[in-house]
Formats: sequence, C-alpha cells, structure tokens
Amino acid sequence: MGKVTGFMEFERFEEGYRPVEERVKHYREFVLTLDEAQSKKQAARCMDCGTPFCNSGCPVNNIIPDFNDLVYQGDWKNALTVLHSTNNFPEFTGRICPAPCEAACTLNVNDDAVGIKSIEHAIIDRGWAEGWVVPQPPRHKTGRKVAIIGSGPAGLAAAQQLARAGHDVTVFEKNSRIGGLLRYGIPDFKMEKNHIDRRVEQMQAEGVVFKTGVLVGRLPQEGPGSRVTNDAIETIAAEQLMRDFDAVLLAAGSEQSRDLPVPGRDLQGVHFAMEFLPQQNKVNAGDTLDQQLRADGKHVIVIGGGDTGSDCVGTSNRHGAASVKQFEVMPQPPEEENKPLVWPYWPLKLRTSSSHKEGCGREFAISTKAFLGKGGKVTALQTVRVEMKDGKLIEVPGTEEEHRADLVLLAMGFVNPLSSVLEAFGVGKDARGNARASTDFTGGYATNVSKVFAAGDVRRGQSLVVWAIREGRQAARAVDEFLMGHSDLPR
Ligand SMILES: Cc1cc2nc3c(=O)[nH]c(=O)nc-3n(C[C@H](O)[C@H](O)[C@H](O)COP(=O)(O)OP(=O)(O)OC[C@H]3O[C@@H](n4cnc5c(N)ncnc54)[C@H](O)[C@@H]3O)c2cc1C
Ligand code: SF4
Repeated sequence: MGKVTGFMEFERFEEGYRPVEERVKHYREFVLTLDEAQSKKQAARCMDCGTPFCNSGCPVNNIIPDFNDLVYQGDWKNALTVLHSTNNFPEFTGRICPAPCEAACTLNVNDDAVGIKSIEHAIIDRGWAEGWVVPQPPRHKTGRKVAIIGSGPAGLAAAQQLARAGHDVTVFEKNSRIGGLLRYGIPDFKMEKNHIDRRVEQMQAEGVVFKTGVLVGRLPQEGPGSRVTNDAIETIAAEQLMRDFDAVLLAAGSEQSRDLPVPGRDLQGVHFAMEFLPQQNKVNAGDTLDQQLRADGKHVIVIGGGDTGSDCVGTSNRHGAASVKQFEVMPQPPEEENKPLVWPYWPLKLRTSSSHKEGCGREFAISTKAFLGKGGKVTALQTVRVEMKDGKLIEVPGTEEEHRADLVLLAMGFVNPLSSVLEAFGVGKDARGNARASTDFTGGYATNVSKVFAAGDVRRGQSLVVWAIREGRQAARAVDEFLMGHSDLPR
C-alpha cells in the first residue's frame, strides 16, 4: 500500500477534457491524461484492500492494488508489467472501458472510487512513450496452425496469446482494416486508431499474419445482416479453413443491428448507427467514399440511449447537425445510485457522456410508432410516451407527438451474430442466436464442432471491449490446451 492515509488526504481526480467548442471541430481524442504527480496522488488513494473488490469487478481481473502501489512508488515499468499480465491492450480499455472496477472499488461504498481507469491510461501511455512495449516473439514454435475469424478485441487478444505460445496464427478480417468495432464502431474522438495500428505491428513481429478484406463464408443477401460493414474483396470457405488449420476460433462479433420495423422504416434518411459511424471513421482514415451519410444541417434523432447512440450524437455534432436528440424507450434512471443497495455491482444510473455534453436533447420513456415522410424522405417521428407497469412498458394515452427529423439513426443494440458465419461451420446457437459454447474451465469456448471455438460478442452477445479481451485470452488457453494437451497461458 502506497500511502496509508492517502484515501483521507486526497480527492478523486477526474481526467480533464478539452473544451467543447474546441473538440467538436475535430475527431481527435480530447481526454487529458493524468501527469505523473496526479497519477501518484490518485494511486495513493488506494487502500490495498484485503479483499480487493476492484479486482473481481474487472472482467480481465486486473491486479489493481499492485499497479496502484507501483505507480505511487514511481516504478512505472513494473506497473506496466503487472497491467500487461492480465490485459493485452490497456490502451483500449484505459480509454473506452466503462470501468466496472471503479463501481466495485471499496472506496465507492461511501466516497469516490479510486480513479483506476485514469491510472491504467497513464501507465500504458507512459509504457509506449518510453519504448517499453515491444514484441515478445515465442522462443519455440509448435508447428500448429490456428485461424481466427474476426479482428476485434476478442480476436486480437486470442491471436496475441496464441502467437506467444508458439502457434502459427492467421487472422481473417472481412473489413479493410484490423480492429473490429474498435476500428469502425468506436469513433476516433473516443479512441484514435494509431493505438490499434501499433498493436498490429507488435503482433506481426510476434508472428501473427493478418488477412484483411477476406470474408469467411458469406453474408445474408437481404435484411439487416446484408447491411453490415463489409469491404471483402475475397471470400474463403469454412471447409477450406477446416482443412488448412488445426483449430479455428470464431471471434466474429455480434453484428446484426436491432431494427425498428414500424411504418415508414423504408424512408430515406432512416439508417442503422452502424451504417453511419463506420463511414466517418473511414473518412478520418483517409478513405474516399462515393457518398457519405452526413448530418450537416440536419435535425437528427438517435433512437437508443446507449453508448452507440451517444457515439452517433458526438459524430452528428461534429458534422454540424442543426439539432441532435436522443430517444430512449426506458424510463430515466436515477442520477445517483443507492450505493448500499448495489455496491459492488454495476449500478443503473443516468450516464451523461462527453458526447451528451457537446449538445443533445435527451428524452426517456418515449417510443417511436412511425416514421413520417415526404417525397420518400423522412421528415418526422411519430411517438408516444410510455410508462412501466408490472414490468411492462405501456403506452400513455393522449401523449402522441411528432418530432422533426431529417436523419434518424437506429442505435438499439445488436440482436446476435450473423447466422451465416455460424452456419458455415455448423456451429450450434444458444437461445439468443449466439454461438453456443460455455466458459467452463474445462472444455470452455469449444463449440459443438470439433476444433472450432468461439469467443467475444459472437459467443456472449453484444458486450464490452474488456469482456472481449477476457474471452479472447481465455479462449486462447482453451485452444492451446486442445492443441498441446496442456497450456501455460493464464486463464
Ligand atoms: C458504436 C459502438 C461503440 C461502442 N463503444 C464501446 C465502448 O466505449 N466501450 C466498450 O467497452 N465497448 C464498446 N462497444 C462494444 C465493443 O466494441 C464490442 O463489445 C467489442 O468490440 C466486441 O469485440 P469482438 O472482438 O467480440 O467483436 P467485434 O469488435 O465486433 O469484431 C468482430 C470482427 O469480425 C469480423 N467478421 C465478422 N464476420 C466475419 C466473417 N465472416 N469473415 C471475416 N471477418 C468477419 C467483423 O468485420 C469484425 O471486424 C461499442 C460498440 C459499438 C457498436
Ligand atoms: S477496491 Fe479500491 S481501494 Fe481497494 S484495492 Fe481496489 S482500487 Fe484500491
């Protein structure tokens, strides 16, 4: 424990943001990383609890009290080693994780949690700046070949672990760049993409082969699944991979957006969030698009109150939208959680993102009945207010309204993975349409098809980057065990 009285002496210190009027003019990151003195003070607040709830609240089980102590002592290099021992990509989570560890922090019972995420962010940024993050190629090769389908955080974490265990790993990605939703979902202003590029370079030096623009199997011809981001210029059959590789890991995400099939859905100007967001990230990366879906001068309504919706808000404001509103069907949650009731779990409370602070009218308990239009283009939303009764949302009579909209973005989550990729391998599905595989210590991540494994959103459904990293790491161990009979990879 760094400073015995630290938690009494020092306040929680939040990372700062660049001013709104400055940051909405660009797509770059705007969070101000803690400096050395601030990080040390924040780390000094950690009580090194006998039972560190932060550690079990963190999906990758980061060894938080240890790196806090090392930062307090000024031993940043060892802090990085501790951080990397459980998390392949702390620069991703240090930027965009909602930090369930902080919700679980003991200080959060009656005070403000230790700023764990800001310390993680500072450690890994320092690690890259100092040149401490270097390739770790394996000392021995096994001669076993593993194919990974999908290059999101689950696929990347698994690929790095398996390559370090000595296997020949090839990652197949249908899009033109590596990263999955890190690359084409999460806007650059939340996480710039050079963070992915330098990890790809590190992994290439460790022996991972990346094949972009290659679709494994096929995509649906119609329906929401046909509209997922797909830059493939080549396809490869599942049978081919089964012949060429000793094991296959499906890390294909959960790409099928939830639709809103109400009257007027086919009007121009009603789009999935994942038709809108990837285009801006591509433009930021230097791509020239034939036509970009833009919000300039438009009245934008985002349907869906979560992270994806908030990213649409931030992007629309950067485009110069005339107005931006976000509608959520669920009632507004409380501003503060009842800590004694919910700690150490993730609380339901009103979350106001940096994008909301850039300008957004938020409405709760509102349901869209129809999209109204003129000349084939959307002009308004017809809505009704709803209330929760006996666990069900009921429409409130007499609350019908119309809201002007020239662009409607559907950000209501993702229902499941594209079934075509599961069916190509004959992989069984669970009741929600995800790849069926357990997380058991023995036999976990294995599907019903011999030598085919599944991890990340494709298995657990729409989730978080940190869960994808956990699943990728654990699945890598399962694959290694399958190939070698035992594994030294951590679980
Ligand atoms: C807009 C948005 C914002 C988000 N913001 C956050 C956030 O702030 N914090 C957070 O923790 N989480 C966030 N998430 C969730 C997070 O991004 C996902 O949970 C995570 O990326 C899942 O990782 P994954 O590796 O399982 O799948 P993905 O990241 O979805 O990667 C799957 C990859 O597989 C590829 N693929 C699929 N099928 C095939 C095929 N047949 N052949 C070849 N390639 C294929 C896809 O192209 C994709 O690149 C956000 C999600 C979205 C959509
Ligand atoms: S729960 Fe909070 S105070 Fe306790 S060890 Fe973890 S970070 Fe430190």
